[in-house]
Amino acid sequence: MCVEIITTGNEIMSGLTRDTNFSWVAAELSSSGIEVKHHCAVADDLEDLLASFSTASKRARFVIVTGGLGPTEDDLSSLAASKFLGTSLVFNPAVYEDIARKLRSRGREPNIHHEKQAMFPEEATIIENPVGTAAGFSFVSGNSKFYFLPGVPREFRRMFREHVFPDISNVAEKGEILRVKVLRTFGLGESEVAEKLEGFSPEGVDVGYRIRLPEIHLRLTASGSDGAVLDSLLRDACSEAGKRLEDFLFSLEDESLEEVTASLLLEKDLTLSVAESCTGGLCSSRFTDIAGSSAYFLGGAVVYSNDSKEKLLGVSAETLERFGAVSGETVSEMARGARDLFGSDIGLSISGIAGPGGGTPEKPVGTVWFGFSQASSGTLCERRNFTGTRDEIKNFAAATAIDMVRKFCLDYVG
Ligand code: ATP
Ligand code: MG
Repeated sequence: MCVEIITTGNEIMSGLTRDTNFSWVAAELSSSGIEVKHHCAVADDLEDLLASFSTASKRARFVIVTGGLGPTEDDLSSLAASKFLGTSLVFNPAVYEDIARKLRSRGREPNIHHEKQAMFPEEATIIENPVGTAAGFSFVSGNSKFYFLPGVPREFRRMFREHVFPDISNVAEKGEILRVKVLRTFGLGESEVAEKLEGFSPEGVDVGYRIRLPEIHLRLTASGSDGAVLDSLLRDACSEAGKRLEDFLFSLEDESLEEVTASLLLEKDLTLSVAESCTGGLCSSRFTDIAGSSAYFLGGAVVYSNDSKEKLLGVSAETLERFGAVSGETVSEMARGARDLFGSDIGLSISGIAGPGGGTPEKPVGTVWFGFSQASSGTLCERRNFTGTRDEIKNFAAATAIDMVRKFCLDYVG
């Protein structure tokens, strides 16, 4: 059990405001036998806030952050929390309505700045503010639980007493520990994952979503006093989730798609090469992000022009002329060509229209063809349609290509 307090604000750092939130909360906790191990005061600076969260998460079971939840530019706590978690800030309409109602009762109207006060990190749980406008929030990161509360002492104290203290003392009494599992899926949208998980409420396990497009992650959390019991609860929950999500579930260990695919390639003793048009090397880059990738990744070719597709991969001029660069015929020849050029077991290829220009009615922006070539499966191709910005389409396409290799490896018996 170890608590860290982070107080924020330039006012505190300049000595203009005395840090009474710290002394008050430290006294509350220590008088109940809960030890505060660290205290850190930080200016209103994004980098400094991030550094303090990261340090605290490595050493504290509970982290209490005060200040920076207001509507102005220097209130950075929500933004820093979302950056720390690697999630986006999401607008919470219920909190906004609550803020608007409170303001109107005082004869004021909400403005654009109050919308900011209703933005919270995706994974956060809201902590209501019964005495002011700024809502607080909490989340779990690794083995630490973070609480963000307003800086105004009256609000801070009330919310601490009502929400945070009961939580912490409960854990302190029971000697509670926390276990977290992150399950990653690819190939399903948010609603499709929700559909597959309808009625999934494993005993003793909290289920949360984390959207990391193009992936959807599930976060399973169990808390209690017996680590072996928690592990077993999580094991059962993972196995049930696995059954429901089938091979859309690619990792139970929070690994990246390319890491999982790389392990499978190694396990099945297969080598890979990639020919990329619209993804411009993104797929190769992801494969080579992994140390030791030379054991299975033989090479990649960025063949952006028709000429390079012909010269480097031997795609025929006639195919390009008749079917176009974005076609099943072309990606098939690209995949086969990459396999021959690099001498790999698998040749993978991608050609599509990332936009924003270049779309046609038959091949709108977001149309991407994938080719796959391997001795036993022969050469196959598949068309997919993505939506989004150029960047998003490129990312979706690269991930889809990697996932094709993963799925092939799962079934491959050699
Ligand atoms: P607001 O909506 O007022 O902006 P906030 O959650 O963003 O609230 P801050 O802007 O950091 O909080 O602080 C608001 C006020 O609360 C400060 O002007 C100061 O008077 C008081 N305050 C903030 N932090 C502390 C602290 N650690 N100890 C005592 N008072 C504090
Ligand atoms: Mg403020």
